[in-house]
Amino acid sequence: MGRIDQAAARARMVAEHLRGRGIGDERVLRAMGEVPRERFVRPEDEGRAYADRALPIGHDQTISQPYVVALMLEALALRPEDRLLEIGAGSGYAVAVAARLCASVLGIERVEPLAVAAARRLEELGVANAVIRAGDGSLGAPDEAPFDAILVSAGAPAVAPALLEQLADGGRYVAPIGRSSWAQELVRYTRDGEEYRRTALGGVAFVPLIGAGGW
Ligand code: SAM
Repeated sequence: MGRIDQAAARARMVAEHLRGRGIGDERVLRAMGEVPRERFVRPEDEGRAYADRALPIGHDQTISQPYVVALMLEALALRPEDRLLEIGAGSGYAVAVAARLCASVLGIERVEPLAVAAARRLEELGVANAVIRAGDGSLGAPDEAPFDAILVSAGAPAVAPALLEQLADGGRYVAPIGRSSWAQELVRYTRDGEEYRRTALGGVAFVPLIGAGGW
């Protein structure tokens, strides 16, 4: 079997699955076109690293579908000076993409071996502005708050008020929320002083957020 041209597969993913489906933020498209997703999947899945789907990463967890990663990052509207918190860092892929769009990323992952592997990958790829922490991130990281943006990459039954309180004024929070543990609505809350403006972004299917602020 010949070697897979991962760069060509990545470019195709950006053109067909992201731009072709309405992702228009050029910074997000460029970052997704630069991060080698094949480094974040299991060796046996390298050949389908750019498939239009989530893939298993072990421990019953997944690396999210590229389109959904792009949709969430576009909704967060990250600026170069922003600090982002991601809850559910998994493989570290979304952290690596986001690190190209903002000043710093703190990723929290509940499954310790996944957190260790994600941190190692980010180091190998030279991502210097991201840190991975192992533990329950469902109530955020009060010790590092406020954040300009918070991304929850696992499905929660409801918005945890503790997370909204960790947003800076003007900050954006994006999360899959739903009463079913496998199907949710992706929502964004934008903070304006003590008010939060809610936008619905469509249906998604995430693994559950497990912990004090989740299931
Ligand atoms: N963003 C990840 C990526 O790029 O690979 C994919 C995230 S995966 C869909 C969801 C992750 O959330 C899983 O790795 C799971 O272990 C993690 N998770 C679930 N509950 C959590 C919690 N309370 N705190 C931190 N991580 C959690």
